[in-house]
Amino acid sequence: MSEVLVLIDHVDGAVRKPTYELLAIAKRLGEPSAVFIGGADKAAEVAEKVKAYGAEKVYVVDDAQIKGYLVAPKAEVLQQLAEKAQSSGGVAAILIPSSGEGKEIGARLSIKLESGLITDAVDVSAEGVVTQSVFAGNFTLTGKVTKGTPIITVKPNSAAPEEGAGAGTVEEFTATISDAAKKAQIVAAQPRQATGRPELTEAAIVVSGGRGTGGNFEPVEGLADALGAAVGASRAAVDSGWKPHTFQVGQTGKTVSPQLYVANGISGAIQHRAGMQTSKTIVAVNKDEEAPIFELVDFGVVGDLHTVLPAATEEINKR
Ligand code: FAD
Repeated sequence: MSEVLVLIDHVDGAVRKPTYELLAIAKRLGEPSAVFIGGADKAAEVAEKVKAYGAEKVYVVDDAQIKGYLVAPKAEVLQQLAEKAQSSGGVAAILIPSSGEGKEIGARLSIKLESGLITDAVDVSAEGVVTQSVFAGNFTLTGKVTKGTPIITVKPNSAAPEEGAGAGTVEEFTATISDAAKKAQIVAAQPRQATGRPELTEAAIVVSGGRGTGGNFEPVEGLADALGAAVGASRAAVDSGWKPHTFQVGQTGKTVSPQLYVANGISGAIQHRAGMQTSKTIVAVNKDEEAPIFELVDFGVVGDLHTVLPAATEEINKR
């Protein structure tokens, strides 16, 4: 069976959930081979994790030589791995997380391998048919790469991780990185402030606030903490400077697909829906019973979030 290369999404060896989702998709297409580009000291731990989700092979590429550079060296690593695998059983596809970095790696790789690229997939079938949700979720596109090795970047929460051990054979790989790829260097990096809350795109529950908060996110954050949820925001809240852009859910923010999404003081504009409409259960609190968000919800509360949320939080905290 042909290999499917999956680029492991991790932060200093802490594997992120989208990796397991990519492995679930990879199993449909062929034999999953996970690619770890990171510190060699983290490799054994990472390999165990991806093995538990079906990785048959784990390529370990020690990043000591390329740390501090931008994405270009990673594209070269994947190119060389794909060419190596091509000479054995072939490569059925290359799956990359649909982050900003992932999409740039995909674009560079597609030129290097002269292969087709599809970005922001929300599903990939066993036949390699890729689904994309476009124009703020108003249209669903299906397409297939017909040239070269399909390179597909997949949005978070597009597949459920599937536990099930693969062989997890570890293979060290040394790539040759060109001088051109080392030209762009990271000059400063600012670590994200630790909030103690789950990452927005990975959280099982997301509690979001919009313009209706009036800038007071305390009720939203109180409910989020009672539920162990991540906090999100509409663009109106972000544009008002109440939350940074990393909190924004929607067309020009993050796409979330949690088990439960609670929208508070958010009207339900199409661009906001684009980032949350695939949530399994949607609850909204809005004082306007005509708000468009109510067309979308499983449960709706017409009321002032500043009274509804503290009451709900108090009730949850009692249990
Ligand atoms: P509003 O639309 O002003 O709604 C506020 C709601 O709060 C109202 O329904 C009101 O009834 C309710 N409310 C007020 N007070 C209370 C209270 N005390 N208790 C309960 N309810 C209350 N938006 C996004 O969110 N994400 C995006 O990624 C995004 N991308 C965009 C991209 C483009 C190209 C464009 C043009 C727009 C984009 N937008 C995006 C903006 C979008 O169109 C809306 O303007 C935005 O989502 C509105 O945010 P909101 O619902 O918080 O504010």
